[in-house]
Amino acid sequence: MRNFNENTITDAVLERIEGATDPRVKQVSDALVRHLHAFVREVRPTQEEWEYGIDFLTRPGHMCDDKRPETTVLGPFFVQAAPEKQIGEDISGGMEGDPMLVTGSVSSVDGRPLAGAVVDVWHSDDDGYYDVQQLDKIGDLAMRARFHADQNGRFHFWSIKPAAYPIPHDGPVGEMLEAQGRHPWRPAHLHFMISAPGVEQLVTHVFVAGDTYLDSDVVFGVKDSLIRDFVRCPPGRAPDGRMMDAEYFHLNYDFGLKQVASSAQAA
Ligand code: FE
Repeated sequence: MRNFNENTITDAVLERIEGATDPRVKQVSDALVRHLHAFVREVRPTQEEWEYGIDFLTRPGHMCDDKRPETTVLGPFFVQAAPEKQIGEDISGGMEGDPMLVTGSVSSVDGRPLAGAVVDVWHSDDDGYYDVQQLDKIGDLAMRARFHADQNGRFHFWSIKPAAYPIPHDGPVGEMLEAQGRHPWRPAHLHFMISAPGVEQLVTHVFVAGDTYLDSDVVFGVKDSLIRDFVRCPPGRAPDGRMMDAEYFHLNYDFGLKQVASSAQAA
């Protein structure tokens, strides 16, 4: 078959991939072809726009290195080997900011505490910068850690309250935001990645109630269920027994993790 036009080419491609041996590869390829062809038929890119598009898709790859991923599911500031900390430790690394106590628990959605659950947490400083953006200044990782929940699935730690920040916008993503008339800001948040046997790994954020950017988060990550008050507390004995001579903030979040489907568990 030959001599395709914009209307006959889609069916021709779909027919050509009929023989894919992996049904998932076939499903994904089929949908990709149908949607991308429809997209091109709708927007009718000029040659110049086509070349710009190809270049735009290529540049984020060139911008990425081990310190700066331009795009990622975990967010650009996740680090694989976060320092292991004991429950109750201060993970601020001595960074300036408002002291923050975080308490929480990890259970399955049916309420069973997940003892020993692995809790990774990372967040920005008081100015909205992560440790990895200022390692030459601060020298070491800070405001990130890995904890193991206790027998009751509980954990707590101290740090400093994070601030809102703009995602890196000096590359192609920044150009796109500007062209679309969008700001690059994320509301203040903590990142969590939690895993335990028998449940699906959870990667999520907890956002600071009242933040200016909750309704316009540049990456569309905000849900009401993820917003919490970071409660301002007076000096005195904190819930974990620590004596505080200054005001601090207290966040509590109880995580519920979905059970792994039983067929996957058996596998
Ligand atoms: Fe973040």
